[in-house]
Amino acid sequence: MKKKRVLVTGGSGFLGSHLCERLLEMGHEVLCLDNFFTGNKGNILHLIDNPYFEIIRHDVTFPLYVEVDEIYNLACPASPIHYQFDPVQTTKTSVHGAINMLGLAKRIKAKIFQASTSEVYGDPKIHPQPESYWGNVNPNGVRSCYDEGKRCAETLFFDYNRQHGLRIKVGRIFNTYGPRMAMNDGRVVSNFIIQALRNENITVYGDGAQTRSFCYVDDLIEGMIRFMNETPDTFTGPMNLGNPVEFTILQLAETIITMTHSSSRIEFDPLPMDDPMQRCPDIQLAQKAIDWAPQTTLENGLEKTIHYFKPRLKALK
Ligand code: NAD
Ligand code: UDP
Ligand code: UDP
Repeated sequence: MKKKRVLVTGGSGFLGSHLCERLLEMGHEVLCLDNFFTGNKGNILHLIDNPYFEIIRHDVTFPLYVEVDEIYNLACPASPIHYQFDPVQTTKTSVHGAINMLGLAKRIKAKIFQASTSEVYGDPKIHPQPESYWGNVNPNGVRSCYDEGKRCAETLFFDYNRQHGLRIKVGRIFNTYGPRMAMNDGRVVSNFIIQALRNENITVYGDGAQTRSFCYVDDLIEGMIRFMNETPDTFTGPMNLGNPVEFTILQLAETIITMTHSSSRIEFDPLPMDDPMQRCPDIQLAQKAIDWAPQTTLENGLEKTIHYFKPRLKALK
């Protein structure tokens, strides 16, 4: 494979750091861009000595002038706590960030991947969700900065494709977990593991009957790489990337308590506003287009994630 220069925005975040690592392993040169809002230098520390790895501190809402062959646009806070912390900045990051990265891609004729999300389906009325479903999204709720920001970013990607002939790949990522999730970002997998390891109450929001389907990070990165490299330029997506095995949040809590041998008990807290009741990807398109399906079971993925968090929690004591 030809050595490429690849820009990863949000490269020091959870998914971005795994993607940078994978691209370097493939023999590419990586420019990791981040403003370190939710990203963490610790996630990429082990890559810094690699002469083909470079870090740029930059906010994607401002223009950027670099020369690369490909762009993966991941910059955006992803957990509800973080994207609701400064909602106006979240929309700016999605929308202005997309405009700037698309403007850059247009000038340098680079292929560009957008990290879109299952949140574009909102609280879905169709189950599981195929790409053809337009979603059920509140335009002015507390999640809207993220959901509508990502929807507008998709609009921009498709308009740059239609209007300027840009080579775009839009991946709709469903809940993904694994090592390097931020401890404080409040997402369900990291919250439950940390609570269980500390023998604290497990905070289930609502009655825990809402569902999610959890994809292990390595599977997700494999899907992104195949989408970018193994589909023709005419294939833009949107394409779902996620694990089609669905669990209730209560099942997740019980599984994590068992796996960590924890004495934690389950506590039921109020369900946040607009929290989707069910979510599960239809991945037939990814199966057909890139011969992809997640390989890691929830137990195996959780084991690796628990293994990641354990020593880090001990170090905090
Ligand atoms: P993350 O918060 O760990 O990573 C996001 C990164 O973007 C962080 O390093 C953060 O500092 C950086 N960032 C935020 N605003 C920025 C800005 N204005 N300029 C430059 N950098 C900025 O989250 P993640 O889980 O790694 O998510 C990465 C991408 O994937 C996001 O776009 C997210 O919406 C998308 N996604 C993730 C999931 C998931 O389950 N992890 C699901 C759907 C979509
Ligand atoms: N842009 C950038 N880097 C580039 C080219 C463009 O950051 O190399 C940004 C710039 O801020 C511009 C935006 O991308 O406003 C959109 O670019 P485009 O060429 O589509 O439109 P313009 O606004 O320049 O007419
Ligand atoms: N959740 C929970 N307890 C927590 C954190 C989250 O019950 O401590 C629930 C949350 O209400 C949602 C699901 O778990 O129904 C997934 O939440 P997360 O924030 O991980 O992702 P998203 O809602 O964006 O899918």
